[in-house]
Amino acid sequence: MIINIASVLNGEKESISFCGEENFPAFEFNGEKHEFVEPIKVSGCVSSKGEIFELDLKITAKIAALCSRCTKPLVHTMEFETLETLSITEADEDVIYVSGTTLDLSDIVKESIYNNMPIRFLCDKNCKGLCPKCGIDKNVKDCTCDEENNNSVFSKLDELFKK
Ligand SMILES: [Zn+2]
Ligand SMILES: [Zn+2]
Repeated sequence: MIINIASVLNGEKESISFCGEENFPAFEFNGEKHEFVEPIKVSGCVSSKGEIFELDLKITAKIAALCSRCTKPLVHTMEFETLETLSITEADEDVIYVSGTTLDLSDIVKESIYNNMPIRFLCDKNCKGLCPKCGIDKNVKDCTCDEENNNSVFSKLDELFKK
């Protein structure tokens, strides 16, 4: 997604706003492949702040993922805003250097999505996950592996306290 910011850069306008959609290819994150289930929505504005320019971005993305606990497929909706500083004179880590009169948002959008990826995806915050012993999906069915474990732990504790 490329936006023309000439009128802000040359001082003709104080700010310009934009809004659009863009298709991004599947990407890998933490060793897992993710796809976007619909085009990413990008909106925001670029405004002049004297020497520098500010880029306000609002991003909405829907990402296909697998639940970290039960491995069920899910769609994670990500909606966030980010503020970047643009400069036409200098480039450093905190500033995005703009050469010319257009700004390609693709890399900025991609990077902010990476930065906003959750550490893990959950189909439900109460997802019980798979049993590490028998592999059963505990959201669907209960198994007795846990009880056996707990019983042995508790009986050992009981023994300790009895002494
Ligand atoms: Zn789950
Ligand atoms: Zn089990």
